[in-house]
Amino acid sequence: MGSGCEAHGKILPMSPRQKNKLRIDLVIPIYNEAEVVAATYADICRVADALPHDFRFIYVDDGSDDGTADTLRGILANDRRVTLLQLSRNFGHQAALTAGMDASTGDVMISMDGDGQHPPEMIPQMIALIQQGFDIVQTQRIEEDRSMSFKKATSGFFYWLINRISGTQVLPGAADFRALTRNALDGLRSMNEYHRFLRGMISWMGYASIILPYHEPDRLAGRSKYSLGKMLRLASDAIFSFSLAPLYIGLSAGLLFFALTIVQIIYVANLWLSGKTDQIAPGWTSLMAIILIASGIIMILLGFIGVYVGYIFQEVKRRPIYLLKGKLPNDGE
Ligand code: UDP
Ligand code: MG
Repeated sequence: MGSGCEAHGKILPMSPRQKNKLRIDLVIPIYNEAEVVAATYADICRVADALPHDFRFIYVDDGSDDGTADTLRGILANDRRVTLLQLSRNFGHQAALTAGMDASTGDVMISMDGDGQHPPEMIPQMIALIQQGFDIVQTQRIEEDRSMSFKKATSGFFYWLINRISGTQVLPGAADFRALTRNALDGLRSMNEYHRFLRGMISWMGYASIILPYHEPDRLAGRSKYSLGKMLRLASDAIFSFSLAPLYIGLSAGLLFFALTIVQIIYVANLWLSGKTDQIAPGWTSLMAIILIASGIIMILLGFIGVYVGYIFQEVKRRPIYLLKGKLPNDGE
């Protein structure tokens, strides 16, 4: 229909992205970032103030206990654009992002970390791409440094694995730094599963998407809040909620053992028929090996089934993904 507003003599409403002045919600999950939160807020403001759009900052305090909440309250007192959601405890990054996205009402939502690793200088370009017609602008971390760290090696292996075994392609290095239009955000919000791997859920959705590479700076201060335990939980959420492949490992191993059994029956029957029964008795080692391997496989498979049953159990409970302790300014703003 072209970009003109007139059709059949009727004035059509302007699509949100054609507006010069968009309502943009920045969703920023924060967990114990007292050292950096004021500095990152100032950096984002510098970028936002230079743009013609209406910005709203939705900070989600994911149960911090280091004075972050006080700093955020100070920021909120001086800036009417700021909303602070306080979760009742630490629910984790993905749940905090979900809380912030649920509170977003703007034309465009941009999620970013509050530690300075998601450069706010990218925001104008992200908005420009949305205005060009994309529903999802997904940033991708580019590694310029070739050295290997534990985090890089494990994350490289994780993306290789998830893209092998799940039907949904997840971009390696995809960050939770992305812009979504209202439409895409409503799509994402309709997926209310408990185990959330947002990067996978977003790529599952489809929509017109574009990848924007960026170089990730170091944190302004503080340490990563992704402990090894949290990283493993995220990896498990991604693998078990996006793939049934682990269940097929058991099935394939079962079929292999079935085939081996047939071979053995033929072999033994052959010995019987040719009168070489004296060759049959020895073989304790091979017997034990087979028993151990088979029971190992059965136990691994039971473990996988256990994880899926656990995930199903948590889904059917329909627990909320997060609980709010408070929202500032109070409703009615
Ligand atoms: N974060 C959170 N809840 C958590 C862990 C992290 O809200 O349980 C926030 C954290 O404050 C930061 C963002 O999520 O703003 C990304 O976390 P982090 O920088 O620790 O992850 P990394 O960059 O090391 O992957
Ligand atoms: Mg970080």
